Amino acid sequence: MARYRGSVCRLCRREGMKLFLKGQRCFSEKCAVEKRSWAPGEHGKDTRSKVLGYGVQLREKQKVKRLYGILENQFRNYFEKAVQQRGITGERLLTALERRLDTVLLRVGFGSSPAHARQMVRHGHVLVNGRKVNIPSCQVNRGDVITLKPKAQKNQQVHLSVDLVSGQGLPQWLELDKESFQTTVRELPRREDIRLPIEEQLIVELYSK
Ligand code: SF4
Repeated sequence: MARYRGSVCRLCRREGMKLFLKGQRCFSEKCAVEKRSWAPGEHGKDTRSKVLGYGVQLREKQKVKRLYGILENQFRNYFEKAVQQRGITGERLLTALERRLDTVLLRVGFGSSPAHARQMVRHGHVLVNGRKVNIPSCQVNRGDVITLKPKAQKNQQVHLSVDLVSGQGLPQWLELDKESFQTTVRELPRREDIRLPIEEQLIVELYSK
């Protein structure tokens, strides 16, 4: 499966904000955004103030892709599906991204970064309703019970510090049992449950051109 293999800190610097893609390092003074807040590249210091119109929309789309760790084609597919559904397209897009299995793991603190959460799924450490699921993009549904396998529980230094990973605390739509490493999907996420700094309307405008 295609994936981004470059420096993730460059992505944060490009977006001009912390995307929390590198676990504990993001909370240390080694964070690249803390040390060099300007965009990467030779002309990085000159570019940020010039972004307007199309550039703003493009940056918003890139930011969301990076926050959820997905590439263009897959992101475009999420958008196309959102367009076909009832309701507000931008909200549909975000809630579908939020319902990804790897995102759920990250939100409850199983995994220190998006890449770590995705790897746990890929390596078969995650059970959904008692069955192994190794597809990070799998959509969770109301009532699903997500558990880590015993080996993953032992090996993982589970943060369970949801504040640490997402900076937002445990979302209301999820329930977490720290003792048994078990999460239950209480309800499907709504737009107001997604507290990331995203202006999804910009993405809709970009793809609607
Ligand atoms: Fe982004 Fe984390 Fe790197 Fe800081 S340390 S730039 S938040 S990935």
